[in-house]
Amino acid sequence: MQTNFSPEQLQTPRIKLADDILRKCVHCGFCTATCPTYVLLGDELDSPRGRIYQIKDMFETGNKAGPETTKHLDRCLSCLSCMTTCPSGVHYMHLVDEARAYVQETHQRPLIDRMIRMVLAMVLPYPGRFSLALKAARLAKPLAGAFNTFASLKPMGVMLAIAPDRIDKPGPLSRTGVHRTDETKSGRVALLTGCANSVLEPSINEASVRVLNRAGIEVVIPPGMGCCGSLEHHLGMEDGALAKVKTNVDAWMAEIDGDGLDAIIINASGCGTTVKDYGHMLRLDKAYANKAAIVSGLARDITEYLASIKLGGFTNKRPLRVTYHSACSMQHGQKIKTTPKELLSNAGFEVADVPEGHLCCGSAGVYNIMQSELADQLKSRKLTNIAKTSPQIIAAGNIGCITQLASRTGIPVVHTIELLDWAQGGPKPVKMAN
Ligand code: SF4
Ligand code: SF4
Repeated sequence: MQTNFSPEQLQTPRIKLADDILRKCVHCGFCTATCPTYVLLGDELDSPRGRIYQIKDMFETGNKAGPETTKHLDRCLSCLSCMTTCPSGVHYMHLVDEARAYVQETHQRPLIDRMIRMVLAMVLPYPGRFSLALKAARLAKPLAGAFNTFASLKPMGVMLAIAPDRIDKPGPLSRTGVHRTDETKSGRVALLTGCANSVLEPSINEASVRVLNRAGIEVVIPPGMGCCGSLEHHLGMEDGALAKVKTNVDAWMAEIDGDGLDAIIINASGCGTTVKDYGHMLRLDKAYANKAAIVSGLARDITEYLASIKLGGFTNKRPLRVTYHSACSMQHGQKIKTTPKELLSNAGFEVADVPEGHLCCGSAGVYNIMQSELADQLKSRKLTNIAKTSPQIIAAGNIGCITQLASRTGIPVVHTIELLDWAQGGPKPVKMAN
């Protein structure tokens, strides 16, 4: 794609990066066919190629982001399906991340929209606040319908409606500190416990610690570690996101420089995609660039790590039919496609793929809150496709997808690691206990 940036514009890192990415696009449009919003809406402006043109125009003119461009960028799920399809290697993720930051800097959103975004950024990344908010949301659930009658307040109604009825208390394995293995120690890793996992389903982190410990891996949950920064990053709130990234880099570097780490384990693929990008996000920060690159180099999805140590020890006698939903951040963001299914299969489960598996389930961070109508259509489509495989269990590797799918199906939706833990003799996943 030909670009028309001035030499002065190309001096700025954002424009230089955008120029490098834009020049790789050959307008072929292959990406449109696999873009969920184009599939649903059939509008070129809601396709990857259409968004690329809008971003190019916004950056070339240097004008403030307008309401139309903002609308089409807001509708993008950042699912990265387009990156999997693109034959030219266009790094849409870095381009849209810069575009979202630019929109945040230059566009004045309506007041209620700004307030809702601010509330999300001030609550969700902090487990204590998130937990309190969920308790309040449970009480306020009957008001969800009232919020839905006003279009601008709909995100509030959605938040109340999807708040889970039950939240389990974290157990000892969720605690900060070192979780030693009873086996001969063969490795040491840090576990990112995450803000959503630790509040919504602490059983995922606890299953992760058990499986790693059984494999002879010492697990540290470092003090000072917090949210990975994804939420604010995807809202274009770069200052808040980068502050969280630096906090985590400091927490993990203290372990790397201390007793050492073989890997940084992430069991929510949305967070994993971001942590693997820390090196890029902090590349211009002299104090952090090297450290962030080290951290990104050590980041592994838990299934990726377990496959590398050849996980075994399965005693599973229940060949249940598990349909594996591959989160976009897993398959498109991290390019991890077969590993989780191979682990489940090795653990004795019968594993099925989801038809149209490349399409997003509509979760996408806070997309299901901010763009609830599109998210709802994608969720229905995903669950219809899942039903075609007649599963007894649905497995996924990302808390967002788990919450999204579980909100409208009676089939248990569990994390892959909970099934692997169970297949090794660990507890039955909480959602299957009844
Ligand atoms: S990230 Fe997903 S929704 Fe956004 S343009 Fe690419 S394929 Fe479409
Ligand atoms: S597939 Fe790649 S090169 Fe083709 S239009 Fe989409 S982004 Fe551009």
